[in-house]
Amino acid sequence: MSSNSIRAIDKESVHRICSGQVVLDMATAVKELLENSLDAGATSIVVKFKQSGLDYITVTDNGCGISAPNLETLALKHYTSKLSSFNDLAQVRSFGFRGEALSSLCALATLSVTTSTGDSPVGVLVEYTSDGTIQSKTPTPMTKGTIVKISNLFEGMPVRRNEFVKNIKREYTKCIGLIQAYALIVPNVRISCVSQTDKKSAVTYIATSGNASVRQNIINVFGPKAMVDVVDFDLELVKGQAKGDGDKDDKDDKSNGNGKDTVEDADGDDEDENEQDTGISLTGYISSPNFGKGRSAADRQYLYINGRPCVLPKISRVINEVYHSFNTNQSPFLVANLILPTASYDVNVSPDKRTIFLHNERMLVEEIRNKLTELFEPSRSTFAVSEA
Ligand code: ADP
Ligand code: MG
Repeated sequence: MSSNSIRAIDKESVHRICSGQVVLDMATAVKELLENSLDAGATSIVVKFKQSGLDYITVTDNGCGISAPNLETLALKHYTSKLSSFNDLAQVRSFGFRGEALSSLCALATLSVTTSTGDSPVGVLVEYTSDGTIQSKTPTPMTKGTIVKISNLFEGMPVRRNEFVKNIKREYTKCIGLIQAYALIVPNVRISCVSQTDKKSAVTYIATSGNASVRQNIINVFGPKAMVDVVDFDLELVKGQAKGDGDKDDKDDKSNGNGKDTVEDADGDDEDENEQDTGISLTGYISSPNFGKGRSAADRQYLYINGRPCVLPKISRVINEVYHSFNTNQSPFLVANLILPTASYDVNVSPDKRTIFLHNERMLVEEIRNKLTELFEPSRSTFAVSEA
């Protein structure tokens, strides 16, 4: 009888079980750290893999740094500086919001943080225990920013660690793809990726230049050839409120506006509800259907919602379908960013936030089909000619 009784799992086990669901693999770990650096306002981020990540991974940024009091709660579950109640979720613009990543990483790896808010030339190196409390603090020279280091990933989970070691090449490749996805879309941030082994000194794989447009990012990540025969698009899927809708208010405000609004607008923030654009569009870059034979780029397709890399299978499928109706031989290179009001989708679907619940997805898919076909239509005749 007693063996059947219902009782609570001990806290430490619960923590480990849940953490394993938040951080599925090395790529998720890297994604979480990269996103934290972006959320911290960094303009330069370096991801470093030692022994392809088997040994350790560091993510170094020049963001805001972490203040002494925040270091105490940094790695505790559901402690976040980005969200305080469920109601904030619909407006969330930061990559993170659940306060789970660092806490989970503590349970799955050895985590240390070196950080400085830039107030003094001395920062602090903090080592955390598996339950997210501080194990040690050591003052250390550090400029403004943060270095998060995770070593021995999955060390306490034999099955996962074995799989991880066995598939390290694939895991590493997945990480590179993920870093590329961010490097392509994020403007004004220098993102680079460095790999080092015991035998080889550091090699830089990805490096964006930090002030760049998406076009420039593509060139930095894949080389200038990547832009050959690539066309840009800006498909309006749902008409927004007429631009300049806020003009009336602007005029009224002009006397005391002092240009402050203009600065906020340039940031792309939608803080003022009245000014929120309800339009939906898909913008980005795609191979022209005419592009040369033998160059298939199915592994170079990147989809985003408001700049957040994610998987959108239905949208990805329709884009490829349309493309294949013009070019049966190849798959396109694709960088596509779906821009829409934050209230019309839900990122809180899967732990890694890559699966997204989209309102009116079917309508959007059909709109994309129509607009993309329109975009490619003139090339149909060209393509027929070039094939003849
Ligand atoms: P979340 O990103 O969902 O808030 P995390 O566990 O990833 O949860 O991070 C917890 C908190 O730690 C963040 O809200 C942020 O305040 C702080 N933090 C994490 N990484 C950094 C960083 N690189 N720079 C500055 N602050 C950071
Ligand atoms: Mg985070």
